[in-house]
Amino acid sequence: MTVLRVVSQSAEATADGAASANNSAAAAAGGTAHVYAGGSRAVNCRLDSSTLSSAGCAPVTQSPRAPEAQDDLLAALDATIARARRSELYRERLAGVRVRTLADVAAIPLTTRADLQQAGVNGTRAAPLAAICHYGESSGTSGASNSVWLTPGDLDRSAQAMRAAHPDVFAPGRVILNRFPFMAAPAHLMQLIAQSGGGVAVPAGNINWDVPFPRALELAQRTGACVLAALPLEPVVLGALARARGLDPARDLGFDALFLGGAPLPPALQARLARDWGARVIELYGSTETMLLGTSCTAGALHLETTLAHCEVIVPETGEPAPPGGEGRLVVTTLSLEGSPLVRFDTGDVVRQSRVPCRCGSLRPSLTVLGRADERLDLAGHRLYPYELIDAGAAAADALASAIFFIAVLPDRVLVRIEGLQAVADPVAAFRARLPGVVVEVEEVGPNELLDVEMLSRSPRVYKPIVLADWRRPGRKVLTVVEGMMEWPRPGWAESRRWLTRKLRTARRRRRLAREVRLAARAER
Ligand SMILES: [Zn+2]
Repeated sequence: MTVLRVVSQSAEATADGAASANNSAAAAAGGTAHVYAGGSRAVNCRLDSSTLSSAGCAPVTQSPRAPEAQDDLLAALDATIARARRSELYRERLAGVRVRTLADVAAIPLTTRADLQQAGVNGTRAAPLAAICHYGESSGTSGASNSVWLTPGDLDRSAQAMRAAHPDVFAPGRVILNRFPFMAAPAHLMQLIAQSGGGVAVPAGNINWDVPFPRALELAQRTGACVLAALPLEPVVLGALARARGLDPARDLGFDALFLGGAPLPPALQARLARDWGARVIELYGSTETMLLGTSCTAGALHLETTLAHCEVIVPETGEPAPPGGEGRLVVTTLSLEGSPLVRFDTGDVVRQSRVPCRCGSLRPSLTVLGRADERLDLAGHRLYPYELIDAGAAAADALASAIFFIAVLPDRVLVRIEGLQAVADPVAAFRARLPGVVVEVEEVGPNELLDVEMLSRSPRVYKPIVLADWRRPGRKVLTVVEGMMEWPRPGWAESRRWLTRKLRTARRRRRLAREVRLAARAER
């Protein structure tokens, strides 16, 4: 079954359209929190995890302009620079640099991802190896990677800040299904939160054959997990799997909080997931290099952790601070990292600052992370970030009672393919309400077409490696080490036929679209 709805309305494409789309997205995001200019932020950072774990990371209550807070911030920045100088990366760059005013900070050149790559594996390390407990890497687009070294205190401060910001989510006795990939820092932060009394962690990393999706679902049911800590797509996949097994995620699973990060999580997707799971969605923001930067509050605004990092939003072309409430690049100076401190690190992330104080009462600045500058798409005169497209795509899917969609950007339009369940509203209108002026085609496809839950349920079983098998006993007759480690699913005839049919249908759709794109390119020439 394939239903096509095509809309063509490029004539209305205006810059105003894009602006109002931005505004509506910001409003839906909880569009809140207060204006923050480059440094008027309160901070109280001591490299002593005992102070931070209890009182230090509570919401900042002083006025952001209080002079003593400014003094604390300047002292913390000066200390960061002194620490950073112990690394090869900063030894010469920061020679003789002292921070007495925020203007001193703004005068320091930016540190780019390329700088980190050039510094090499040990170049960012500012502490002796004996003081380090964790190594992390983020892979760049070019294949080169950034190396990050962390001390126990570095990990602990991020973990405790997260726990302090969400005492109701992370509390004794609350089971956390930890689906963050093992190589990503949040996986370890969840474990630390649990170890320090913030719950019970079930390590279930999702890029790991130990815990394929069906087993994760079973673990959630068996343990009565109430927190799902994962990448944003995880609850989409687990939800589809649950429904395929006749379960209602909101009714039959115990999750009351979805703690999600690592990919865009725009408002429409948050709203859909919250409804599907009957749970609160909390957004997590940070990076391998900076560690935790912020989490979202009950009002849905992403607040910065001002005790952990000093954030500036700059206009990349001029290097000047972006106007209050405006968009710009996020530049981070870590205040608490000992292993690999960063001074004015250009995250490459484009953010939109909030203009108004947050409804939750927090004075900490809040922002919307739109995505990497190099991910921006130019679309018929519109400059869009994946965040905005995913928001509109999720809204269109929501109109068909679904969270499963895929977006293809074509030369003349945006194609949104949706595994629709039930039409509750017009998906095209829902998309256009978010992104007026962008030409969209909505293609409704059948169940399992975009996310093959049957195949997911049949991922290989993985066992401990063995070198011995007793063929006299019932069960598998293993002959090799690899066979012993892995058992591939053997789909039945009917299952194979369904899978093949879907493969062929997708291949046909791909061929038709590719031909269309080729013809469009030729017509342009
Ligand atoms: Zn708030």
